[in-house]
Amino acid sequence: MRIVLIFALLFAPPLNTKLGAQQKPAPLEEVKVVATTVLLGQLVQTIGGDAVDVDVLVKAGHDPHRVLPKASMLLRLKNADALIMMGLDYEHAFLPALLEKSRNKNLQDGGNGYENVGKRIAALEVPKSLDRSQGADLHPRGNPHYDLDPENVRIMAMAVREMLQKVDPGRSAQYQLRWTEWDQAAKQEIAIWKAYLKPIAGRNLIAYHNSWPYFAAAFQFKIAGFVEPKPGLRPSPRHLAELEKTMQQADVKVLLMESWVARSEASGLVKRSGCKAIIAPLLGASKQNRSYLTSMQALIEMVGVAHGLPTIQEFKRDAKEEQ
Ligand SMILES: [Zn+2]
Repeated sequence: MRIVLIFALLFAPPLNTKLGAQQKPAPLEEVKVVATTVLLGQLVQTIGGDAVDVDVLVKAGHDPHRVLPKASMLLRLKNADALIMMGLDYEHAFLPALLEKSRNKNLQDGGNGYENVGKRIAALEVPKSLDRSQGADLHPRGNPHYDLDPENVRIMAMAVREMLQKVDPGRSAQYQLRWTEWDQAAKQEIAIWKAYLKPIAGRNLIAYHNSWPYFAAAFQFKIAGFVEPKPGLRPSPRHLAELEKTMQQADVKVLLMESWVARSEASGLVKRSGCKAIIAPLLGASKQNRSYLTSMQALIEMVGVAHGLPTIQEFKRDAKEEQ
């Protein structure tokens, strides 16, 4: 009898692990996410689907360096399960103060719902020391405009997926699936964009604000100069005259800028030099620019066409015919 009991104990299935395997975390009713930019918000929506409720703090068309903190933003931060940000001081003008005030432990650095994408990015132009000789530096931790390299946008999407899986592990497989679908599509588009722009690799461009080094690196362009002598500084007539000379020497055809910069300050330069001013399409501001992939494609096509390339549609058709 005793032997039977010992055997029974020895071969009994371990109760705890069996129970543990059955306990899958329940999905959250709804994941409340705060994203600082439109692009981050869109990625959260794409990967989160119906499971997420996304709030975007900085709407399309606002200069990220000049956003003011608002009470409505604070309310959103107080109620959120997760926060995703660009980092690298992109949100320095409003986020740190609001985060502290929100007292939402999940969203503080190291919290379960805190995702600072900048920490995953190989930042360009990281200064060796802070230069305050010309006032406050808008890019003190390196250049924060990394979302102009589409490979970095893939890193952003991966960060979104990992954040959602951490906050809402019950839907982990669902997030994985939606991310895979988006990432495959992005990979394909990026390959097409790179092939399309290849014939004009090495060309010089100029930019209004220093937002474009990641774009230039991704597509092998050079940025020959900026309308702003330093990020945030307005140009003097002398600076503009020098820039015009540089443009002639470097055979610059394109000026890149965002919709929020003071365009009038570059209009004389554009007229005199005959270059094309290209304003980056505003994600989420129109039907055509509803998704990241379509708005980025529109930008790439504008740059290509300004240098004499066909449209991307024509490029794809020609590539097919050659096969
Ligand atoms: Zn900037």
